[in-house]
Amino acid sequence: MSRDFKKPSGHKHKKQFGQNFLNNGRIIDRIVASIRPQSQDHMVEIGPGEAALTEPLINVVDRLEIIEIDNDLITPLKIRFAAKPAFHLHHTDALAFDYSTLLIDERPLRIVGNLPYNISSPLLFHLLNYAEHIQDMHFMLQKEVVDRLCSEPGNRNYGRLSVMIQYACQTEYLFTVGPENFDPPPKVDSAIVRLIPHRQKPFLADDEKVFAEVVKQSFSLKRKTLRNNLKGWMDNEQIEACDIDPGCRAETLSVEEFVKLANSYTALK
Ligand code: SAM
Repeated sequence: MSRDFKKPSGHKHKKQFGQNFLNNGRIIDRIVASIRPQSQDHMVEIGPGEAALTEPLINVVDRLEIIEIDNDLITPLKIRFAAKPAFHLHHTDALAFDYSTLLIDERPLRIVGNLPYNISSPLLFHLLNYAEHIQDMHFMLQKEVVDRLCSEPGNRNYGRLSVMIQYACQTEYLFTVGPENFDPPPKVDSAIVRLIPHRQKPFLADDEKVFAEVVKQSFSLKRKTLRNNLKGWMDNEQIEACDIDPGCRAETLSVEEFVKLANSYTALK
């Protein structure tokens, strides 16, 4: 299945845009196989770069929205793909983009990308605003971030990002990708993650803004107990009423327990 992938040339990689381009056809094939693109898909690719993933996707899916910030990559993308019916290019910042403007029919969006690592967390939070319109997301991220997205309470990687993403999505660690598969090679390992927004959230916060604040506050000081971090928000009695030990640390609490805390705070506010 593996294709020879032509190494990109000529383009000067820009660090500020996190430009580490995939250079290994076997890894590209493996990513595409994980995405399982279908002919009816309405897909969005964030950060196509020199089209390592764009190329194999654009010939399969019905519509591919491509979001790229780097001016220097726009003309080459147009030259290569403008004649393809699926091609829709947006020269813009993926962090500020309104993804609801892409919805043209009842099809949900499938979002993919080898993301610039410097914007991955804010981008994930931004995309969660559109979760109800998203079928799934497949991203290459720093391995450490994927570990955080997929880890469970009590694990050393479990933190605010894990809770916030797992509240909204089912997360799955797919595979690790070493630095040698990029041009230029990044300093750390990367990994592919699959995120599927919950159609119905298993645990629902009465007020999601409060939930986000309670989670943030609970993790505000590392190694501090919940009692300490929630001082001024909730007292011992209120935490205990949720069947949670105020002497425990936030990293041991499940998403369900954070929802309980947030709902108790909302009710007594
Ligand atoms: N998809 C290509 C690949 O796998 O080889 C390139 C991936 S590279 C890690 C990240 C890409 O995202 C670059 O093309 C970069 O210019 C683009 N990018 C960086 N910041 C962006 C932003 N805020 N909005 C849209 N694209 C961005």
